[in-house]
Amino acid sequence: MREIQCRLLIVGAGPGGYVCAIRAGQLGVDTVIVDAQPPGGTCLNVGCIPSKALIHAADEFHQLTQLSSKPSMGIAAADPQLDLAATVEWKDGIVERLTGGVATLLRKAKVRLVTGQATVRDGKTVLVDTPEGPVQIRAEVLVLATGSEPIELRSLPFGGKVISSTDALALTEVPGRLAVVGGGYIGLELGIAYAKLGAEVTVVEAAPRILPQYDAELTRPVAQRLTGLGVRVLTGARAGGLSDSGALRVAGVDGAEDIQADKVLVTVGRRPRATGAGVESLRLDMAGPFIRIDERCRTSMTGVFAIGDVTGEPMLAHRAMAQGEMVAEIVAGKRLVWDKRAIPAVCFTDPEIVSVGLSPDEAATQGLKVITGLFPFAANGRAMTAADEAGFVRVTAREDTHEVLGIQAVGADVAEMAGGFALALEMGARLEDITGTIHAHPTRGEALHEACLRALGHALHI
Ligand code: FAD
Ligand code: NAD
Repeated sequence: MREIQCRLLIVGAGPGGYVCAIRAGQLGVDTVIVDAQPPGGTCLNVGCIPSKALIHAADEFHQLTQLSSKPSMGIAAADPQLDLAATVEWKDGIVERLTGGVATLLRKAKVRLVTGQATVRDGKTVLVDTPEGPVQIRAEVLVLATGSEPIELRSLPFGGKVISSTDALALTEVPGRLAVVGGGYIGLELGIAYAKLGAEVTVVEAAPRILPQYDAELTRPVAQRLTGLGVRVLTGARAGGLSDSGALRVAGVDGAEDIQADKVLVTVGRRPRATGAGVESLRLDMAGPFIRIDERCRTSMTGVFAIGDVTGEPMLAHRAMAQGEMVAEIVAGKRLVWDKRAIPAVCFTDPEIVSVGLSPDEAATQGLKVITGLFPFAANGRAMTAADEAGFVRVTAREDTHEVLGIQAVGADVAEMAGGFALALEMGARLEDITGTIHAHPTRGEALHEACLRALGHALHI
C-alpha cells in the first residue's frame, strides 16, 4: 500500500479544510488534504455558491416577468423565456471555476490534495480509498473538517419526488407545484427562487413563524414578500409522509391537510458528519451530535483538531474558514484563541436579512440596558431609486457606554453591508463612531448612520 507522511493532515476540503490547508501551506507546514469530492465542500459544490447563482437567475427572470405583465419605470419587456437546464449549466460553470480555483490555490501553497474516501484509523493515521488504490497517510496533527449533510425525515426519505437541497440545485425543469418542508435558511432561499421561476410554492414550517432563528420584526418584510409572490406559508405545521396519491400530508394548527406537489423539498436542517468514516473510533468528547472543541478548536484527543459544521452552530462557511485559518496558525506555532466578537449571518431571501451580534430581545434576555435605533429604507433615497423600499437597519447599543452590541438589517442587497456591521462590532465601535463616519450618498449604508443617530435621539432624515 502507498504511504504518505506529513505534518498536518486535513480530512475534508470544504471552506474549513481548504482554508486551513492553504494557510498551513503558506506557513511552510507540510500539509495533505483529503476529500472524496472536488475541493470546495458543500459550500462551493452544492451550497452557498450554486444556491446564490440560482437565486440570482430567478431574480432576473422574475424582474422580466414582472415588467412583461406590468411595465414600470418606463420599461416594458416581452414575454421572457426560461431554459432551466441552461441556467443549471451556467451555475455548474461557476462551480467548476471556483473548485478548480481552490485546487490551484492548494497547489500554489504546496499542499498535496488526495482524492478519495477517508477512514480514520487513529489520531495519526487515515486510510484513503483512492481511484488508484488504498493510500495510508500518517500525520503528526489531524484536522477533522468533514462538514455536514442534509437531515432526512423518516417519513419523507429522499428519493422520487422527495428531494434535498442538492437535488433542488440540479433540476432541469421548474416543478409546477413545489412543497417545501422547513421554512429556514435553505427552504426560504430556494423556495423564493422557485416561486420566482414560476412554481406554485407552499412552505410547511413547524415553528410558529418562518426563519424562527431571527426575531419577528426582522422577518416580517420577508413574510410580506412571500405573500406578494403568492407563496403559501403554513406555520405551526408538521409534514408527515406522502399519501397514496402522492400528496404531502401536513398536520397543522387548523387540522390535517393534503398538499398536492410535484416535488417535495425537505430542508429541516443539516447533521454533522461526526460519525462514520472511523471518526467515532477516536471516542472524542461530543457536544450533542457535534464534536466538542475548545477555544483553539482542539478536540478531547491531543493532536486532533475539528473545525466547521462538524463542530456546531452556526453552520456557516465563513465560521468554518475563520476556524481553519486559526488552526493552521496554531499548528505553525502561533499562540491564538478564538476571540471573535461576532459571526455575521446572512439569509439570501427576498429581501435579504443580515444579523450581527445581539438583537434588542437577546440583549434584554441578557439583562442588558440598551438603546435601539431603527431606520426604514422607505426613507432612504437609494432604496427609492432602486424601486425596493422594504426593510430597515436596526442598531442596539449599551445605554451607558453606547457600545454597539448588535446590528440587523432586512432589505434588498443588505448582504453587502454584513462586513461593515461585523467590523463595527469587532472594533468595539460606539454609536458616535458610526455617526462620526461619513457614509456615502446615496447608498443603503446611510440607513446605518441614521439608525445610530436615531438611537442617540437626533436622526436627520426621519
Ligand atoms: P463542508 O463544506 O460540508 O465540507 C466537508 C467536506 O468533507 C466535503 O467536501 C466532504 O466531501 C468531505 N468529507 C467528509 N467526510 C469525508 C471522508 N470520510 N472522506 C473524504 N472526504 C470527506 N453558508 C454560508 O455561510 N452562506 C451561505 O450562503 C450558505 N448557503 C448554503 C446553501 C445550501 C443549499 C447549503 C446546503 C449550505 C449553505 N451554507 C451556507 C452552509 C455552508 O455550505 C457550510 O456551513 C460550509 O460548507 C461548512 O464548511 P465545512 O468545511 O465545515 O464542511
Ligand atoms: P434551518 O435550521 O435553517 O431550518 C430548518 C427549518 O425546518 C426550521 O425552521 C425548523 O423549525 C423546520 N423544521 C424542522 N423539522 C420540521 C418538520 N418536520 N416539518 C416542518 N418544519 C420543520 O435548516 P436548513 O434550512 O436546512 O439549513 C441548514 C443550515 O445550512 C442552516 O442552519 C445554515 O447554517 C446553513 N445555511 C446557511 C445559509 C446562509 O448562510 N445564507 C443558507 C443555507 C443554509
